[in-house]
Amino acid sequence: MAYKKDTICVQGGYRPKTGESRIPPISQSTTYFYEKTQDMADLFDLKADGYFYTRLANPTVAAFEGKVAELEGGVAAIGCSSGMSASTLLAFTVCGAGDNIVSSSAIYGGTFNLFAVTLPKLGIETRFFDPDAPAEEIEKLIDGKTKMIFTETIANPAIKILDFDKIANISKKHAVLFVVDNTLATPILCRPFEWGANIVIHSTSKYMDGHAAALGGMIVDGGNFNFKGNPRYAAFNEPDESYHGLVYADLPAAQFATKCRAQMMRDMGAIMSPQNAFLSWLGADTLALRMERHSSNAKKVAAFLAKHPKIDWVWHASLPDNKYHKLAEKYLPDGQGGMLSFGIKGDVSQAAKFMEALKLITQETHVADVRSCVLHPASTTHRQLSKEELEQAGVPENLVRLSVGIENPDDIIADLDQALAHV
Ligand SMILES: *Cc1c(COP(=O)(O)O)cnc(C)c1O
Repeated sequence: MAYKKDTICVQGGYRPKTGESRIPPISQSTTYFYEKTQDMADLFDLKADGYFYTRLANPTVAAFEGKVAELEGGVAAIGCSSGMSASTLLAFTVCGAGDNIVSSSAIYGGTFNLFAVTLPKLGIETRFFDPDAPAEEIEKLIDGKTKMIFTETIANPAIKILDFDKIANISKKHAVLFVVDNTLATPILCRPFEWGANIVIHSTSKYMDGHAAALGGMIVDGGNFNFKGNPRYAAFNEPDESYHGLVYADLPAAQFATKCRAQMMRDMGAIMSPQNAFLSWLGADTLALRMERHSSNAKKVAAFLAKHPKIDWVWHASLPDNKYHKLAEKYLPDGQGGMLSFGIKGDVSQAAKFMEALKLITQETHVADVRSCVLHPASTTHRQLSKEELEQAGVPENLVRLSVGIENPDDIIADLDQALAHV
């Protein structure tokens, strides 16, 4: 039976047998015991489910994988050591030298570096597009070597909302994988598989864990892409000699996830640690409640800032005059998340003055956990860029990024108000 998302948050991914612990124990073990040689042989042949070495799979990690897969409505998920290792494993599962990725330019800075700097050294090219560009322009970037279209549901720091229908149409027309980084929306606010995505990835270090306690990543297989006979995905249709001739496109389910785990997790070993899986599993119990509060708090904060005389502009899709408001009504009807950006009037020194005057809200590089925090990209994460380069990256010099937490909204607003008085 398919449960609702808030039920899956607390019940998903783990069902104890009689007498077992009610929540998943931390399986702090590299290896597993079997009495019969055949039992272990069946595991190696993927004929049976089970564990033999924690680099490939672990029961605590599996509990969290199960919860996220159920929340997203996917067929399988793979827990990774970080969000970045999830995007790296994702790329290597489909791309080799000579292949390319067609990616939105409005993506997380770390992913941008991976695609723009590191993967090209291995012969994998990325062609970036403006997510607001018309479909014809994006389509022009696709050729026979394109292995995926990569996007984010809510892109940071411009808080752009993805037009799923536009990308889903392109992906179907060209039979190319549609991948969505759903970190900042979470499956509570948006389920990309319902809008045509094929693979979803997460940095679970953000809202999923929610407490800034554990680093992690997740790759979720939608099980809704037809690899069989698709010339773009020869590696899914030819026998994998490194896995005794397995043809992934012939598997009954989870073809992408199986290739990703059997080849890439085996070779790169970037699995989530059992301890982090436990913390993230526990954190995700309250994901539905927290996303509701993050969204309603951010909506109130955005409305407050939009009316404030010292504020130049505010970006949050809850604002009726926001460029992405219409898309948010369609794809994020239950809330638009806790991330917002705004510009303070005056020169760049005003932003620094404001940041230093904050008392409750702290300065951090992290986002999307229970505690409100701010970052001034022009003087931190983007400080090597010139003023012109900042504008090009969609990060004006006066931009302040605010991750709205779940504190009482009156306290958050009062802190912003007193800090703005110093500007
Ligand atoms: C943080 C983040 C990542 C990277 O995740 P890590 O867990 O820090 O490696 C990827 N995508 C988005 C949208 C993020 O916010």
